Amino acid sequence: MPLLDAERLLQALKVEAQHDYCDLQGRTARFSDFVQEQLADLIPKAPPGEGRARFERLKREFADYRTLDMFDRADLISRLRGAIPLLAATPVLTASLPGDAAIAVQSGADGARTGQEAAAGNGQQKRSDAPPRGSGPLAAPVTTIKGVGSYLTGALERLGLEAVADVLAHYPRSHLDYATRTRIRDLQEGQPVTIWGTIRRAEAFTPPRRPTLSINSVTIADGTGITTARWFMAGSSRGQQEAWKRRYPPGHQILLSGVPKRDGRSGRLVFERPEAEVIGPGEDEDGAESLHVGRVVPVYRLTEGLSQKALRRVIHQAVDQAAPYLADPLPEAIRRRCDLVDMPTAVRDIHFPESLGSRDAARRRLVFDELFWLQLGLAFKRAQIQGESEGLVLSARPDGLVAQFVTHLPFELTGAQKRVYAEIAGDLARPQAMNRLVQGDVGSGKTVVALMALLSAVENGYQGALMAPTEILAEQHYQTFKKLLAPLKIEVALLLGKQTKKHRGVYLDALATGFCKLAVGTHALIQEGVRFQNLGLVIVDEQHRFGVRQRKLLRDKGPQVEVLTMTATPIPRTLAMALYGDLDVSAIDEMPPGCEPVTTRWLKGKAGRKQTFDLVKREVKAGRQAYVVFPLVEESEKLDLKSATQEYERLGAGELKELRLGLLHGQMPPDEKEAVVAAFRAGEIDALVATTVVEVGVDVPNATVMVVENAERFGLSQLHQLRGRVGRGGGESFCILLTDADTQGARERLEVMVATHDGFVIAQKDLQLRGPGEFIGTRQSGVPDLLLADLRTDEDLLAQARECAFEVVAEDPTLARHPELAEGMRGAYRQNLSFLGIG
Ligand code: ADP
Ligand code: MG
Repeated sequence: MPLLDAERLLQALKVEAQHDYCDLQGRTARFSDFVQEQLADLIPKAPPGEGRARFERLKREFADYRTLDMFDRADLISRLRGAIPLLAATPVLTASLPGDAAIAVQSGADGARTGQEAAAGNGQQKRSDAPPRGSGPLAAPVTTIKGVGSYLTGALERLGLEAVADVLAHYPRSHLDYATRTRIRDLQEGQPVTIWGTIRRAEAFTPPRRPTLSINSVTIADGTGITTARWFMAGSSRGQQEAWKRRYPPGHQILLSGVPKRDGRSGRLVFERPEAEVIGPGEDEDGAESLHVGRVVPVYRLTEGLSQKALRRVIHQAVDQAAPYLADPLPEAIRRRCDLVDMPTAVRDIHFPESLGSRDAARRRLVFDELFWLQLGLAFKRAQIQGESEGLVLSARPDGLVAQFVTHLPFELTGAQKRVYAEIAGDLARPQAMNRLVQGDVGSGKTVVALMALLSAVENGYQGALMAPTEILAEQHYQTFKKLLAPLKIEVALLLGKQTKKHRGVYLDALATGFCKLAVGTHALIQEGVRFQNLGLVIVDEQHRFGVRQRKLLRDKGPQVEVLTMTATPIPRTLAMALYGDLDVSAIDEMPPGCEPVTTRWLKGKAGRKQTFDLVKREVKAGRQAYVVFPLVEESEKLDLKSATQEYERLGAGELKELRLGLLHGQMPPDEKEAVVAAFRAGEIDALVATTVVEVGVDVPNATVMVVENAERFGLSQLHQLRGRVGRGGGESFCILLTDADTQGARERLEVMVATHDGFVIAQKDLQLRGPGEFIGTRQSGVPDLLLADLRTDEDLLAQARECAFEVVAEDPTLARHPELAEGMRGAYRQNLSFLGIG
């Protein structure tokens, strides 16, 4: 249905714009991925020729969405919105969005924030933490809410609200706190406040260099001073701007809630994207409409044809009618222990609290539930793995293989390596299945620890396997293994998807007969047809994180197989608890000695580039090698991003003329890629111009310079991974972050890179600056999305919820005696029951 699809797409674009172009993580996809998918469906419906080509180009640009800054993101969205009417269903489409205001990407004021669900393109999905509905008034359709007729039913449906329980779970995105309002003259930078004043004027203008954007502002006075609220929007037609201005008529009262910040140019305190609500005539503070100008007023995400006030009325009515019927799934004991309000109170107060204090108590309860279900699932899964699978008992002898291996190592193990190996050995020696994650920064020495674990399996008569995320990495591990194992005369097999049948056949035989004790490979390792004589331990990277199901699959490869997970992307403790709560976590948090920190600088402009490439040439002259990394492969339309392919040619003709350059990017065929990596490794290439494919692949100790172009487009953790590619061979090495963006955000992030080398610190910063979506989104962890909880601020609550959940499962591992908890957990994991090994 082109109509629905295009409408969903428009909706997602709008929601994204309202979320500051943050590439929203929806339930099923990130915004940018969702758009690409939708476009893939819609393109065949576009008029052939130029029209279709235009969509094709837009789709390609969305592939790079995450690397764009906010201006370019807004620009791209605005161009896509402009193109959508070209689609076949145009007339119907516009007809279904009444009024020009509906088409405009709206401001934070009355804007229709459709939140996560719409960004994921599925307005119908229910929140995972929706109160249980059962039957009765909660399960009844929204038409049973007093005052809801067919018009409102339609609007509520567009928000995905069908039953009364859905309406109760449509939590406000914020509250306007009228009770504690502040005078304009008392505003303080950075202090969140609500102000109340009179609209002086509303303006909208288009910055000359960004013709598709609009900067809209409202000037407000309250007798003590004047301030301005600003919204930055995509969509700059006159009609859109006029429609927007009409919503802020001069003379009307307005309620604004936000954090004032100092305007760089005027030096005055202004609000950027505050919550705003215009109060109509007759709705003053003593007026009858206390729902709208009560003390603490909820602000909801909306949809076309539904006003804040109408929705408030509906929800208020629904709360009155149905909240008392909400069952409370949490045992009384937990509620009391963690000081949580009951469910009916929580739902009432999340919408219409008496004070911000009671709103916070309500939020606390609802966030607790969200985290509790999450943790209950993790505890449950852990109990299952431990209960169902007896583990092997592998114990290393003092004179065994592991000990021999360690004595042959050309270096002493670090304290962290010893500790983490001891933790692994402890797991292996116990009859329960191992369930451990090892975190360690790039270069922290995970490979050695992995090998020790594998050797302890071999020592006990079993085979071991290491599964890597890419072929390049697998080959590298294979080479490392061969080198380190040479003194022990242990044979290693290599299994890759691209191998010829014959090549592969040799290794397959060697594994089946037990001639090879160790195997390294990609997921080709666990495919059908691969037989081990006696597989005992598999080490996987986090991308192959094994669930209960996959463990069952593994069991085909050996009667009992232990699994150890490793990751080179350290994540902060709270996130580890949320995402990996079913695992024991070990951290290799110490770098091997002699591993000098990489000298890191960020530079800009012509002078910075000259300095950078002079450094590259100097290092090459000294016999070293360099990387130059770019965010994109091909120059995309309109974006002045430097692309690897183009820059490869440009650098080759210019700054790096006298060097031997190589090019590596993700779209090259695998054998070409490998040839380039091999040449680089062999020293036949001085500088490798590449996209981020080098991030997880290439290990060349002789490389001493990492240059990252457009560094502001990369996440901190990604920059850290890139930097980890150099400084591996001893001697001084350099990481130069080039940028032309001089925004405070960019500076702040690049400064973090200069200031620290600790992957855990960097990850924590990344979490603070960008939110958890970045980690969770890339991790496909199988755990439910967190909608209300914020891992940046809810750490204590997370710990409490975790403790309670693990206690419940310790007493009742199958939850047989807690059917209501089992039900709640299943509800929260509805999308991912296989993660739990049920359903
Ligand atoms: P990771 O896999 O965690 O990125 P590696 O295991 O590849 O790290 O180790 C990085 C480099 O450090 C390798 O060259 C390795 O031989 C070396 N190394 C590992 N452990 C030590 C140690 N304890 N002392 C000195 N060098 C070490
Ligand atoms: Mg390694």
